Amino acid sequence: MRLSRYFLPVLKENPSEAQIVSHRLMLRAGMIKQASAGIYSWLPLGFKVLRKLENIVHEEQVRAGHIPMLMPTLQSADLWRESGRYDDYGQEMLRIKDRHDRDMLFGPTNEELITDIFRAHVGSYKDLPLTLYHIQWKFRDEIRPRFGVMRGREFFMKDGYNFDLTKEDALHAYNRHLVSYLRTYERMGLQAIPMRADGGPIGGDYTHEFLVLAETGESEVFYDSAVTDLTFGDRDIDYDSVDQCRAVLEEFTSKYARTDETHDEALFNDIPEERRRVARGIEVGQIFYFGTKYSEAMNAVVQGPDGKQVPVHMGSHGIGVSRLMGAIIEASHDDKGIIWPEGVTPYHCGIVNLKQGDEEADAACDALYSSLTTLGLEPLYDDRNERAGGKFATMDLIGLPWRITVGPRGLKNGVVELTSRRTGESEELPPEAAVQKVAEIYAEL
Ligand code: ATP
Ligand code: MG
Repeated sequence: MRLSRYFLPVLKENPSEAQIVSHRLMLRAGMIKQASAGIYSWLPLGFKVLRKLENIVHEEQVRAGHIPMLMPTLQSADLWRESGRYDDYGQEMLRIKDRHDRDMLFGPTNEELITDIFRAHVGSYKDLPLTLYHIQWKFRDEIRPRFGVMRGREFFMKDGYNFDLTKEDALHAYNRHLVSYLRTYERMGLQAIPMRADGGPIGGDYTHEFLVLAETGESEVFYDSAVTDLTFGDRDIDYDSVDQCRAVLEEFTSKYARTDETHDEALFNDIPEERRRVARGIEVGQIFYFGTKYSEAMNAVVQGPDGKQVPVHMGSHGIGVSRLMGAIIEASHDDKGIIWPEGVTPYHCGIVNLKQGDEEADAACDALYSSLTTLGLEPLYDDRNERAGGKFATMDLIGLPWRITVGPRGLKNGVVELTSRRTGESEELPPEAAVQKVAEIYAEL
């Protein structure tokens, strides 16, 4: 993309409505614009990152054997009356009437709708196990939407639902989700720690929340610092293996890590004092096993091997896709702007032309652009007629991990400058070598 043809409405001033750095930077970098309280338009740069996050979530879900689909945003109230949650959900649910005076709602989550689909089409244990998921907009009429996309009213969420014959099978689905979530967050350059949590209105004894540590997080968390040493890395896990998935769950949840809702002071005090941590975190996902709560209420039964009808065991699993964008920025920025992890960056590499209109510099930039593109990378070329300082400030603000700077002086010596956004370190090298280096970095992902 050439910046002169793009739509990147960056703000020079700090917007006064933003209280936390991710919100401020997303507004300044022209990624979002508030449409009304807690509801945002996703401008091109923000939309590009949102799609990248969505793709990573899809890839990891499919890798785990889960099946993508899409359910609507508007739902009929009848299903929610059946489960009993129409009244329970309270004011967070946005209720709407259609022209026939029928009660509708904008879905805050999808347990009811998916259970209805399941009971209509699945009748035998032979069709199990089954995990379906979708990535769709949700609406919750939060009392205090704030922090930009972090606590919106409209937000983008992956929600998945497993259906199993037995509790044992459903717990394997639970463990499998935990493994796939660990992979998902790591690909986004994030450390998200699974913490024992509270079931809330969804209910259930088994539930973990995934938290990204950040001072601006809304949850208070308590943990053994040893959990932050754990990384998933590039392990090759067989998602069908009960033992392998359980082993990962045990490894990542055996150390103390809890949110304030489940915190146990006595257990916490058993941790050696130098490893006890009290901090704040951003919830970027949650997994639940809730047994037969919905299947019994909504009569989602299958015929078991013995011919008897039994309610299925279910769980639900959510990832806050739009919130993740805020969480990544909270975890990765400096005073100049965002620093995107390579896995989610909107463009792979910036190109800054120090002397637009100079024949040689323009030609060198065009050549870099086409070499990068040929290798399957997406460069963002700042080809505007602007001062170098302004171009650098924009690149630093929008946070592309790599920048190639091209100027007549360097070109005389046959070199361009390759700069890492994270470390600020630069090296001079021939243009082809710079392209090669950038390509190698992304090839490793
Ligand atoms: P919270 O406790 O933050 O209100 P929740 O526990 O009610 O969230 P879940 O039902 O577990 O949310 O939804 C799954 C994920 O969706 C959450 O882990 C979070 O990342 C994201 N999410 C929930 N509410 C919002 C919101 N208002 N804005 C953005 N993302 C949200
Ligand atoms: Mg939650």
